[in-house]
Amino acid sequence: MISTVHTEKADLTRVQFFPGQPLEVKMLRLDKIHPVISGNKWFKLKEWISIALGSSKKGIQTFGGAYSNHLVAAAFAAKEAGIKSRGIIRGEKGIKESPTLLEAEGYGMEMIYVPRVEYRDPAALMQRYPLPDGWILIPEGGKGIQGVKGAAEILDLVPDLHQFSHICCAVGTGTMLAGICNAAAPHQQVTGISSLKGTDVISLEVKSWLSDPELVFNILFDYHFGGYAKHPAELINFMNQFYLQTGIPTDIVYTSKLMFGIHHLITMGYFRNDSKILAIHSGGLQGNRSLLPGKLIFL
Ligand SMILES: *Cc1c(COP(=O)(O)O)cnc(C)c1O
Repeated sequence: MISTVHTEKADLTRVQFFPGQPLEVKMLRLDKIHPVISGNKWFKLKEWISIALGSSKKGIQTFGGAYSNHLVAAAFAAKEAGIKSRGIIRGEKGIKESPTLLEAEGYGMEMIYVPRVEYRDPAALMQRYPLPDGWILIPEGGKGIQGVKGAAEILDLVPDLHQFSHICCAVGTGTMLAGICNAAAPHQQVTGISSLKGTDVISLEVKSWLSDPELVFNILFDYHFGGYAKHPAELINFMNQFYLQTGIPTDIVYTSKLMFGIHHLITMGYFRNDSKILAIHSGGLQGNRSLLPGKLIFL
């Protein structure tokens, strides 16, 4: 569908960082599948792109903030698919200089900046910026059942998936987590680490997206570091340390919190010591451009 996405590049890397042999952690490197449509965003978009192409739709409209992984991925995917794209941007002062938004615009996305208050009211937004004829609307972050369907394909990339007792991934909207739950084997415990402060609204939504209401998962809300996109020095230090030891770059919003959480849980004895943990590297490295240069040793 989009020839530059190479899902075969998502290798499974043994992560030599955690205490407690024989416990083992392997990471599925979705960050490697494409330089722009990185990580889980490709999986959450692919259903939408195929809907658009299958019914000769002309464009997509979606939403995002200054460093949105989703927005830049959607802009690029639309360009590759030969359709138009429009982004409704949560506008704050100076936002137009964000490298993420400049990049999305460079891929041909039409940018509409709206103030924060207005952005929070989806009905008013739709009235003010109605969907052009023959376009489709993709929810913010690629959230929802179409995204869940695509995200279920993530586990197809894991050779010998059965070897794992646990699957852990980062949680924003919970769309990826729901897809993973739907595709996991019954013996696998699926755990999400939330990047947002705890509200169990997310768990309820994830439940509504499950193919079988009996499927079990849990979401931990202890590793958000103050909230969405908050990244105190402790987290930055962890990212540098993790990179030094493993060679794996993480992003400040999701994957760093995931790996920090897994590390903490292991030291607390949360996992049995014969556990085999699959951690999903869901990409998002472009968002690290919001940091001042020099903070990360791998930027
Ligand atoms: C968007 C994103 C997530 C969150 O995915 P959800 O499906 O919204 O839970 C996790 N990791 C990265 C790197 C992301 O860009």
